[in-house]
Parts: sequence; structure tokens; C-alpha cells
Amino acid sequence: MYRSHTNGELNISNVGEEVILSGWVQKIRDKGFMIWIDLRDRYGITQLIFDEDRTDKAIIEKAKSLGREFVIQVKGAIIERQSKNDKIYTGDIELLVSELTILNASKLPPFTIENETDGGEELRMKYRYLDIRRNPIKNNLIFRAKVTQEVRNFLSNQAFIEIETPYLIKSTPEGARDFVVPSRMNEGQFYALPQSPQTFKQLLMVGGMDKYFQIVKCFRDEDLRADRQPEFTQIDCEMAFVEQEDILHVFEGLTRHLLKKVNNIEIGDFPRMTFDHAMKTYGNDKPDIRFGMEFGELNDVAKHREFKIFDEAELVVGIAVPGGAAYTRKEIDKLVAWVKRPQVGAFGMIYAKYNEDGTFKSSVDKFYNQEDLAAWAEKTGAKPGDLICVLSGKINKVRAQLSALRMELAERLGLRKPEEFAPLWVIDFPLLELDEETGHYHAMHHPFTSPKPGQLELLNSNPGEVKANAYDLVLNGNEIGGGSIRIHDKATQAIMLKHLGFSEEEAIAQFGFLMDAFEFGAPPHGGLAFGLDRLVAILAGKETIRDFIAFPKNNSGRDVMIDAPSKLDDTQLTELSLKLNILKKEDNQ
Ligand code: ASP
Repeated sequence: MYRSHTNGELNISNVGEEVILSGWVQKIRDKGFMIWIDLRDRYGITQLIFDEDRTDKAIIEKAKSLGREFVIQVKGAIIERQSKNDKIYTGDIELLVSELTILNASKLPPFTIENETDGGEELRMKYRYLDIRRNPIKNNLIFRAKVTQEVRNFLSNQAFIEIETPYLIKSTPEGARDFVVPSRMNEGQFYALPQSPQTFKQLLMVGGMDKYFQIVKCFRDEDLRADRQPEFTQIDCEMAFVEQEDILHVFEGLTRHLLKKVNNIEIGDFPRMTFDHAMKTYGNDKPDIRFGMEFGELNDVAKHREFKIFDEAELVVGIAVPGGAAYTRKEIDKLVAWVKRPQVGAFGMIYAKYNEDGTFKSSVDKFYNQEDLAAWAEKTGAKPGDLICVLSGKINKVRAQLSALRMELAERLGLRKPEEFAPLWVIDFPLLELDEETGHYHAMHHPFTSPKPGQLELLNSNPGEVKANAYDLVLNGNEIGGGSIRIHDKATQAIMLKHLGFSEEEAIAQFGFLMDAFEFGAPPHGGLAFGLDRLVAILAGKETIRDFIAFPKNNSGRDVMIDAPSKLDDTQLTELSLKLNILKKEDNQ
């Protein structure tokens, strides 16, 4: 028997008991005649004491040979501590060691295994198993397990069936690039790893499973912007005989259940916002509504005053920054520099201070009088003491830029409070999105999303105007889930694919299996998927998903611990009937 108890469970009521504990040496304090060791495991820390007067000399000698992260087993009696530690559960007691076994030695760890560590990200990732011993990461993984457990509880109680779908599938265009896997048994052919189980869950509905869910890995070979992972986890769901309202109801329930069980927060009905409204008011389809700073469109009051930049812009739009009138010239210059960074891309920023005395001072006083600026204040909701920041340009670009500024300022002003939760549904998304570079439409959600009833005709005349039966769940400025009511008949699916640029043959080659299934009594159906990694991080009040994944990849998609991806040897390549001819990136464009 390695242990009679864990290191987190003994307290004053156990004094006098003989126990056996195992764990890692976290800390050694050697006073010569007395040694204390903090013994750690997943459950906590128990203090061990070796005392010249009471402990065998040989054991003391052995204790002196221990180093950090040695794995040991000890036996002894629980005694009351002289100086207690009220910060930990076991803080009133210690174990007077009578037997000590070294189960395994440890090299000196490359960083400290403490809550605050001196290890940088790359080093911690290389030795992730040591990082996981630290409380912050360990607790994140336990937290994640609690969230998934609650997801399973909730959905199972609602008659959802957990069903696995395959990982080796056929490439499906869901917007991202596929990871592919060569098939040894089918020379020259490749599987793709699923970007999501989308078509399979729809086929499960055709199969009559009615309510499906799966906590499932998805794979997307995308350029890794900050805090994206090439493999990530979804809570994937699908239901038959449902309308949008049914889906929103169930998954609002799930989100509320999680907030209650995990965060002990009760939230009422989630607000709903159309995509158009979100874009107009927040410049973004995943608005953080924990704070105001809503957009005020200024075309009516800012154009035709001989200020060329505004006159030439498609949209002039501003926000009011609470308390910003007090910013110094230098602070404002810094903000201007911030919006001009290539990541944001604005050409500049116009501002107007709304002074406490009710007057205005702007960077464009030459063109705008006090009355004009009062109109800006009204449109942006600015109050005396605020700063109005105004950007202008092409509608989509300027909205994105102002949205970035809004989020940045809110962050600086402490308005994005991690303990506050503001979920909402964004609905009525466009069905199609125009790729400004290629001039082609592609599905905003995915090709299986149905247009709003009665809008099929519009697809021919004005495709950009068609709205989809699609919805996103947004939490604190993050899209945590999204889904749609699907197309469930072959004819509509064929029309949709045609609009996405598939020829009839291509449509059949890619989606024949799904369209065939639609001809065998496919029920109306719809669903959604939550991004589990991000959901967990947000529920924990954090933003970095890597900290909630046991073995994440870095920004170049590498696992630096196991050193993947890596080369295959010739035998493996031969078995796969493959010969490499690596093209240089430039030749590959
Ligand atoms: N498969 C979709 C996605 O991964 C979610 C859905 O439509 O259910 O975004």
C-alpha cells in the first residue's frame, strides 16, 4: 500500500493516528536538528517533520539526501503542529516520520513548481508534466473536468445521447483548411480530420437519434492567431424536429446551468441582438455588453463641413470614453498611435473632449463648432468629462477598427470585469459573405445552414441580403457557440451549393452522401456547437485557452514536449507509397 490517505485530508481530528503518505517533495527546511518537508500530491500538502530527538538518525540522514520533486513514501504518527498554518486544510497537523522510502529521485526541475513560477512559457510547455503539478494548471484541468461533467449531466437529463463520430473522414469545406492523413491501404488517397462532426451529426438526425451530443476534438489547419489551437474541443449538439427557438431555449438552459453550477451565478433570459444591430452598435458580431461605449454613427452631423477626410468616408463613427476628457495630449497621441498600428490599421483618429464645463475641444475645431460637437456627443452618448474618439473610412473596416479601440479602452478602464457574465444571442446572420478579394460568396456559417423561410428566391436576385437561420452565443465578447437550422432537402442543398460555386458534379462528389440521405426522409433539424476550451477559460474568468488544455500546442502548431510534427522515416513513407518532394513556401503560393 503506497498510502493510507492523501496529502490533503488529514487534520486535527487525526492526531495520534499512524498513517502512510506518498507524494512529491515540494519544499525542504533543514534546521540541522529538525527538518520539515512539504509533501505534495494532487489533493494538497502535508507537512512532514524529522526531529533529532524523536526520529531515527538514519532516517534523518536519508531525509537530508532528498531534493525537490523526489517522490517519497513516509510512515508515521500525526501530531499537532507547534506553529499552525491557517491557509491550508492540513495546517494544524504534521506527520512525525518514522519510516522513509525514496520511490524515485528527481533531477532539479527546470523551473519552480510553485503557484508563481520562474519558468517561461516555452520551458513550461517542454516540461508540461511538471507544469501540471503546479496548482494553477492543475486546478484549471480539474475545473475543466467539472464543466464537462456538468455538460454531460445537463444534456443527458434532457435525453441527449452521446455518440462518437469518426476522426478519419473525407474533407468537408467548412471554411478552414483540413489536416490530412495518408491512407496506407488506399494508395495515394487521404483521409481528412474533421473540422467538426457537422455532416455526421446531421446524418444521425436522419438516422432518427433525435438528440445527439458529443464532446469532441475538431481539427483546423489555420494560421494560429493568438490563442487558437489546431486541435480543439467542441460540445457538439444536434436536434431533430426543432426550430431556432427550441435550440436557443435548450442551450440557453445549458449555459445557465453551467453558470449556476460552476460559478454560482443566476442569470435571467439572455438578450438577443440581430447581427445587423451588433455590427452597427459594436462593430462586431460578438459584442462585449458588460459595458456601454456604444457606437454613434456621425455621418449626418460630421459630413459636409468641408473636412475632406470625413466627406470621403463611407462611415464616420465614434465612441465616448468615460472620463477621457482628462487625458493629456500625450495620452491621446498614444491612442492615435495605437489605432494606427498595422494590427488595427486606422489612418488616424479625430477626437473631441467634452469638458466638465460643457464646452468642447476637438482636434478639428477648424471645421466643427460647439454645436456640431454637441451633436457628436448626443450621438455617441458622451457626457461632460468624456472623450469622443472618431474614426472614418470604409464601413466594414472602420467598424472593426473602432471595435478594437472600444475593447482596448474598456480593458484599460477595467470595464471588462472577469467576474461579470453577460451572455447574449446574436441572430439573423447573413447566409453568405462576400470575399472582398476573390469577389465570391461563401457560407458565413457553413454550407448546410438554411436560409430564413421565404428567402430562397432572394438567393438569385440579391444573395448578400439573404439571412440565415443561424445564431451565435456570445459571452463577454467571445463567441462561445454557434449553430443553425439546417437545410434538410436535396433541392435546397443543391441550390445553396450552386451559389457557393460548386458545379453539379463537385456537389455530388463532395456531398452526394448527405444529399442522398436527404432523399430518405430527413427530418427538419438543427444544432450548434460550443467551443469548450474557450468556454471553460471564460467561466474561470480567464482568456488564455492554453492554460485549460493539458497538452496544448504553441503558436506554430508545435507540441514542444514531444517535438511534433516531425519527419517520417523512409520505411514509413514507403509503406504509405509516398515520396516527398517538398516545395519551398514561395513556390507554393
Ligand atoms: N459545426 C458547426 C461549427 O463547428 C457548429 C454547428 O453548426 O452546429 O461551427
